[in-house]
Order: sequence, then structure tokens, then C-alpha cells
Amino acid sequence: MNDQLSNIRINQTGYSDTLPTHVAVLSGNLMTLSKDGNLQASTQIETPETDESSGDKVTVINLGILSEGEYSVQCGEEYARHITVKKNPWKDVTNALIKGLYYQRCGCELKAEHAGRFTHPACHTAPASEWENKSVKKLVTGGWHDAGDYGKYVGPGAVTVAHLLYTYILCPEGCSDELNIPESGNGVPDILNEARYELEWMLKMQRDDGAFYHKLTKDHFAPFIMPQEDHDPEYLMPVSHCATAAACACLALSYRVYREFDAEFADRMLDAALRASEWLDENPDFVPFVNPEGVRTGMYGDRSDKDERFWAACELYAVTGEAEYQKKAEALYSDELRITSYGWAEVSGLGAMCCLFEIGDKPENTLYSVIKERFISECKKIQSLSESTGYGTALPPKGYGWGSILPIMSNAMSMIMYEMLTGDTSMRENALMQWNYALGLNALDICFVTGFGERSVMNPHHRPSGSDGIDDPVPGLISGGPNKGFPYSQTKEKLGEDVPPAKAYLDELPSADTNEIAIYWNSPAIFVGAFFNSIS
Ligand SMILES: [Zn+2]
Repeated sequence: MNDQLSNIRINQTGYSDTLPTHVAVLSGNLMTLSKDGNLQASTQIETPETDESSGDKVTVINLGILSEGEYSVQCGEEYARHITVKKNPWKDVTNALIKGLYYQRCGCELKAEHAGRFTHPACHTAPASEWENKSVKKLVTGGWHDAGDYGKYVGPGAVTVAHLLYTYILCPEGCSDELNIPESGNGVPDILNEARYELEWMLKMQRDDGAFYHKLTKDHFAPFIMPQEDHDPEYLMPVSHCATAAACACLALSYRVYREFDAEFADRMLDAALRASEWLDENPDFVPFVNPEGVRTGMYGDRSDKDERFWAACELYAVTGEAEYQKKAEALYSDELRITSYGWAEVSGLGAMCCLFEIGDKPENTLYSVIKERFISECKKIQSLSESTGYGTALPPKGYGWGSILPIMSNAMSMIMYEMLTGDTSMRENALMQWNYALGLNALDICFVTGFGERSVMNPHHRPSGSDGIDDPVPGLISGGPNKGFPYSQTKEKLGEDVPPAKAYLDELPSADTNEIAIYWNSPAIFVGAFFNSIS
């Protein structure tokens, strides 16, 4: 890694020759842009303003739409920064983010022909017992390891799959079939092949009465060992309302997407979604999931299941057209639902996406105009936020909590969908600034996707990366990034109390609080990458 912090921050994976090139400059000097040694432009940087989140005095410069080639940007006497402008510059990193999910596959061998150096034998292949009744054993293999740990969680998995499927629905031309995963070339788009690996596992997580187990984990996190060495027993933890409603929504959505490729698989998913919906009807009173005594793996607790139920009602209405589900969606909708949130805790945005893009503007879709109006208004607030920060990042200083990459990528998703919904491209550059943030244009001068950029994340909190004996981390994983909100005490100690929020980050393996990876952080970045692939 290049250890020298530059006074110019760039998208380290390159720029498109069809979109404006932005760089961030941290000094008040003359900035020059050269191509093949010839001066192209110079800009006098005015006295920069201080970015509240980072404490940096920074100016974002729009260099305009540049033609293909190698450029250097220099400011003052400091070393020049090289940038590449080309057609479709983000295909590789977007593909890698999808392939990153392949590397999370559990229960199968990662063969060298697909995984290269990062091969390993099958892991977690033993049957699991129900936590509450250990005499009940089931074979529940498959799915993705959730994050830096080896647990598998239904709600986070459902959200990740939904991001992939909406990427396929809304930006199909931004997805590539060159992933080199075991199913490649089978006539199904690779993004759907990868999502199916999780869906097949999710179907096994349904109990006979229609409810979904909340998670499949051990009672504690594994040490930093390879997954095939992790032999302690796994348990089917109790069922939950949120997991059941999220799986219901995700499986209904999946039915719609997969029926043209495999009707039998699609029917199994719709059947599972309908049985989940019946269980939710029979169990209307929300009970929050809490870890049973003695269990210390990720809880993914939630304060409400209204947003999951709203998303499920929307997806079931989109699939069946039955008034029953429409009425449910109407009854569950309220201004309290955060319709621009797409993460595991707050899934209302996925319900809104279904309503706006799947059900669409029909007379019987009474929610359409209400949600559209509010969605547009929320997007305008997000755009203003992006414009109010020094790096153009759509996150306030207080927003840098655990996994700050999620709200940043979510805000990019919203601004992209604003364009899809209205045809107005005025938020496109703001959305692009979030993609640039993930790839290096930020206060840390770090590309948050492993395997990419001249200053990239090298030590993610990710068990295989930390135990495979290979210096490089597993590629295509996005780090959660700065976390000022809920840091570990040792992180606080190392960084100091006064570290600015956007710099509260350690590229160190133990720092799960700032440098873990997660499937549901990769997936919104995939949506954003696919959109920019489709227009670059
Ligand atoms: Zn595994």
C-alpha cells in the first residue's frame, strides 16, 4: 500500500469518460491537470471550507467530462496523483463486489478454478440442532457467511438478496456474466446465480409452521480460524417475526424474478412466502428477538416488525394482485416508515421500491402517489446533505456509526432511484460522489473495497482473510468504515477522543467496529456500481 497521504483525493479505481471527474483537494494552491505531460487545465483553489465530519479543509473540484487516457493531478509541490479515465471503468470492481459474496459461501468447497488463491474445503456441513429442543436436528447447509464471522442470519440475508434482485430488475445492463462462479454459463445471469445460493439456504430455514428461524450460529463467535476448521455445533436459534416477514418479502420478490428461469424453484419460494405470511397473520403481536441465555453471536435485534411486514405486504401484492395484501400495505404504511432506508434493521425502503417500481402507478395502487411524493422530498434532503459536506458525502457528522458505508450507499441508491422515477438527472453527480467515497475520495484516502486501489483496506475483520496465510485480504469485500458512534474502547484509545467522525477508522483486523465486512454492505454498493456501469 502507498503509505503517503496525498493532498489530492481521487476515486482510486478510475473515472468514466461519460461522467464528470471529481477530485478533492486539501490545500489552497494552484491545481494542475496534465495528460501525457501536457497541461490541460489549471484551477486556483479558493480558501477551502472546513469539512465538519473530518476537520479537513477541502474543496471538491469538478474537472468535467474527460476523454479516455492517463492524467496526473498536482497541487503545489506535493507529488502528483495519477488518474485513469476510460469506458466502463467500474465493471471489475462491481463484479468483484458480487464475487465477494461467492467467497462468503458456506457448506461447499471453494475450488481453485473459481476462488484462485482463496480456495478452501467445504465448511459447516454438520446437521444443526434447534436451540430450544436439541433433539430436533436438521441439515441446513449452504448460504453465505454473514460478515467477518461464520454465522448465517435470515433477515440480513433477505435484505442482501433483495438488493441483488432489485439491481437485476432496475440495472440489468450494469451486471456482467463474467463472475467465474460454479454456475457461470448456465443461461441464468450470474447475479441471480449468486443470490440463489442464499435463497436455497433460506428455504431450509423455514419451520413446518411457516415461521423462520432467526439465525443459524454457534453459541459464540469462532476464533480467527478458517471456516473448515470451525467444528463447534451450530444451532437453529428461535424463530422471529422480523426474520419471518423479511424472508416472506424476499421470497415473494424472488418468485417474480426467477419464474422465467426456473418455475419449480420459483413456486417453492412463493409457497414458502405464503406460509410465512399465514404465520404472521396468526401471530400478530410483535416479539423482539433476543439472544437466548448463553448465546453471544450477532443478535440483529429490532424494535418493530412493521417495516418488514410492510415490505412483505407490498411484495405479495405485486406477485398476487390480491386486495388483501394491498389493504395490509395501506394499513401498515405511515410517515414513521423510513422509506429511504434499505438496511437489515429498517427495510421500508425495499417496500417503497416495490411500490414505486413493481406495482407502479395504477389506480388501485393508492400508496403510489403518497410514497412517490415523500420519496422525492427525502431525496432532495439527501442531495442537500451531500452538497453541505466537504467531500460531498451524504452523511452528517453524527451519521458515522457502525457500518457507516451502509447509509452512504443507501443515500446513493435513493438518489439513483430519484433519477429513475423522475427522469431528472440533477442528483446523478451527488450519487456519484458516494461511489467515489467508497473507492477512495474520502478523508482517509482509502479505497474501502479489498483488492482495489493504491491505498486499499488490507486488514479487514474477516476470519478467512485473517487466517488463510495470504497477505492480501479476500478480494471484493467492502469495509464498514469510520465509526465514531459506537467504537470499541481500544479503538477509542488508539484514535483518541477527538478523532473526527470521518476518520474514526483503523485498518486493523481486531477492529470489527470500523473494519468488518458484511454481505449487506456489499449489496447496496453492487446496486450503485451496476447503475454507474449502465451509464458509463
Ligand atoms: Zn461455513
